[in-house]
Amino acid sequence: MEHQYEKYCHNCGAIIDKQTDLCPKCGARQANFQNAQTNVNINVNQRWLITVLLCGFLGVFGAHRFYTNHILSGILQLITCGGLGIWWIIDLILIIIGQFKDKEGNYIKM
Ligand SMILES: [Zn+2]
Repeated sequence: MEHQYEKYCHNCGAIIDKQTDLCPKCGARQANFQNAQTNVNINVNQRWLITVLLCGFLGVFGAHRFYTNHILSGILQLITCGGLGIWWIIDLILIIIGQFKDKEGNYIKM
């Protein structure tokens, strides 16, 4: 019970507070905290995720095209309500399967 709020530093072995993420003795970042961070930074390309969300929620306004620098076709989508929804659906599918390119010609992949 007395060790409930304590743990060992994985680097130097010092007994440290369980809540801390930096060892006060050696300054090493603790494993629990590292794991939590790794879980947040899952291997999804953030740019792809933003493009998917923009297309999913604001796709009929061409938001994903503005985001990926397709300004002219973005305006065209905005005027035509995403090509009456058809163009929007095609874009959404292309983005999800990783076949959508930005203005520079790079595929935006998961
Ligand atoms: Zn330490």
